Amino acid sequence: MEELAHAGVAELGRLLAAREVSAVELARMQLDRIERHRDLNAFLDVRAEVTLAQARAADERRARGEAGSLLGVPIAHKDIFVTRDWASTASSKILQGYMSPFDATVVDNLARAGMVCLGKLNCDEFAMGSSNENSAYGNVLNPWDKGAVPGGSSGGSSAAVAARLSPVATATDTGGSIREPAAFTGITGTKPTYGRPSRWGMIAFASSLDTAGLMTRSAEDCALVFNEMLGFDPKDSTSVDAPREDFARHLNDPVRGLKIGMPKEFFGAGLQPDVERAVRAALAEYERLGAKLVDISLPSAELGIPVYYVVAPAEASSNLARFDGVRYGHRAAKYDDLIDMMKKSRSEGFGPEPKRRILIGTYVLSHGYYDAYFIKAMQVRRLIAEEIQRAFTQCDVIAGPVTTSVAFGFGEKTTDPVAMYLADLYTVPGSLAGVPSMSIPCGFGDKGRPVGLQLMANHLHEAKMLGVAHQYQQATDWHLRVPQGF
Ligand code: GLN
Repeated sequence: MEELAHAGVAELGRLLAAREVSAVELARMQLDRIERHRDLNAFLDVRAEVTLAQARAADERRARGEAGSLLGVPIAHKDIFVTRDWASTASSKILQGYMSPFDATVVDNLARAGMVCLGKLNCDEFAMGSSNENSAYGNVLNPWDKGAVPGGSSGGSSAAVAARLSPVATATDTGGSIREPAAFTGITGTKPTYGRPSRWGMIAFASSLDTAGLMTRSAEDCALVFNEMLGFDPKDSTSVDAPREDFARHLNDPVRGLKIGMPKEFFGAGLQPDVERAVRAALAEYERLGAKLVDISLPSAELGIPVYYVVAPAEASSNLARFDGVRYGHRAAKYDDLIDMMKKSRSEGFGPEPKRRILIGTYVLSHGYYDAYFIKAMQVRRLIAEEIQRAFTQCDVIAGPVTTSVAFGFGEKTTDPVAMYLADLYTVPGSLAGVPSMSIPCGFGDKGRPVGLQLMANHLHEAKMLGVAHQYQQATDWHLRVPQGF
């Protein structure tokens, strides 16, 4: 039974269809592992009885003749998605114990497909961070090295999938929070086109950037789950009304003749030699498979960090205004009047990083600074997006590193917020442009810590991007490596 923890979504679907295993057996096995590896602190809320009830329902649907490929396959959700049956906190004290009256659309879509939820996953508070050190509920450990961060903000999602506590986990990416933790933990992390996954029920951080995606072991698994997860949602005003498609349809397309663009700005100063070595070896593998590497340039990409750290806090300061102690969440026990109640509730409920973002965001949106900072940032954002669009006239996909270094140690960057922000150097351009992007494991660097290769495709071309990743995963076995002890 335990060896099934290493089977991916595709394989589990086949075993369930062949009645070689039941959803209840799978759920029990995963719940046992979650219990055994509690020291990772990947899960914030586990309710075995709810999970087992969902598993029994999936088995009954199969017994009645239903045949969905995800029916009975376990999944876990980042605690940014609201769920009716598990607490939804965004890893913040301000939402401690909060029970949502509804499920997020993404959660709902996957439940309808019969996926069985194992619980909620730790993350940085309101998805703000790159190391999961901003959670009000403690750090998540990296299964490859418990002295290293698992990446952030989706650190619980990445650790859970790397440690085989779940075959797949949802995650969210605003500036890199799927790709960076996937790179740090040696798994496949995929952010689709902005607007393709519904944001309904995703606790908002920066609404023009927030994108739901997945942590999986392989590109193939991701394609299968995207088939049920993505789709138009009338409840989300920025939802893309694109026709439904099969995200697995390009998996077997050969990469012969494919043009892979290498932005020279992604290979400049700051990139650590161990990461560069693994990434260049992956690109050489693509060449061996018949792809053509082309040099491209994204001259404004380096402005991504300053632009992102104006736009994201601005939107966050507005989104976090809803936590006022009145409607939901923490309310201070003692206060003088309404204003005092709001001040105290927010001061007590928010951790240091959301507070920092509210201050920066309110500042750049204030009268007198709005044109100088916010409008300027929006203009440069457009420039970056246009450069990426132009690049796709020269190549089919863009490739490069995900991060400048392998996973760093706890406390290494917490005293310097700007050093932490720089961890997003190669991921924010794709976020600002809203294009699909992913990280796939491509080797190991210093201290045996994993390295990720980033792939980016044009808007709505995630199926092609997943195919390019799958071809690499057919030729290599980095994505099959398991951290010791798991
Ligand atoms: N590290 C970035 C931030 O702190 C990205 C976070 C994210 O993508 N959610 O804003």
